Amino acid sequence: MTIFEKIVELRDFINNLKHQGKTIGFVPTMGALHEGHISLVEKSVLENDFTIVSIFVNPIQFNNAKDLEKYPRTLEKDYSLLKEAGTDAVFVPTVKEMYPEPLNRNYEFGQLANVMEGEFRPGHFNGVAIVVHRLFEIVTPNRAYFGEKDYQQLMIIKALVKNLHLPVEIIPCPISREKDGLARSSRNERLTKEMRKAAPFIYQQLSKAKDLAHSLNSQALEEKVAAEFRSHELLELEYFKVADGDTLQIIEGAIPANAYGFIAVYAGDVRLIDNIRLI
Ligand code: AMP
Repeated sequence: MTIFEKIVELRDFINNLKHQGKTIGFVPTMGALHEGHISLVEKSVLENDFTIVSIFVNPIQFNNAKDLEKYPRTLEKDYSLLKEAGTDAVFVPTVKEMYPEPLNRNYEFGQLANVMEGEFRPGHFNGVAIVVHRLFEIVTPNRAYFGEKDYQQLMIIKALVKNLHLPVEIIPCPISREKDGLARSSRNERLTKEMRKAAPFIYQQLSKAKDLAHSLNSQALEEKVAAEFRSHELLELEYFKVADGDTLQIIEGAIPANAYGFIAVYAGDVRLIDNIRLI
């Protein structure tokens, strides 16, 4: 496994692969890797000749300075997990290498970027689009792998590729969960013992919502979930929304096929997101 910090060196490596007609699978990450990330890497290894993983904590997608500062960093452990999973190359640029000058691109995603994460984290998806677009320009992958854990992000990336006709296939990957149902996340590392114990409540509520989705309309379902969190001592609900799985249009009234439940919760100062297909 080769580690690259410089774009020119990675480009040389990639040009060489392209001349040999090899396919490239790409997994962008922010590090602090866990089994969820590794499931993406393993899929890429199966489907491509070469797999490249990037580790870059992208400052411009954080709208909260404290969240950025406290984002877990476990580089040596990440390398060993990636090597074990069959990764061929890791790209670990500095902020200066990625953004020698401030990169101010403005992307238009309409409704997709206005609801849920877009509403509560202003600027977040533009920052995600900037970094992913730049990484695609550098890595020029045939396929790129994204987790459904960040479902709205996946939709944004699909829209980015479609709108700009980028020559890359986006491969969605299912959510990887702990045994108790908690969606794996780098931020879980920051949970106190007490909060870690409480956190599976999030997926329990999503699963309950799925059971109720046939018999309640979306407002009643959202209110039911909100009420459950109001009576929880530790976890604080930011939102639970029912939205269409393709357009992310918020659903009002009866819950149709392909509706998803999307949730964001504060466990202390750690913000966790999750989602479930309802129908
Ligand atoms: P991150 O390092 O959080 O930016 O995540 C990098 C990629 O891994 C994104 O495509 C995430 O959606 C994906 N990912 C993170 N956690 C999970 C999980 N629990 N299951 C599946 N994919 C995940």
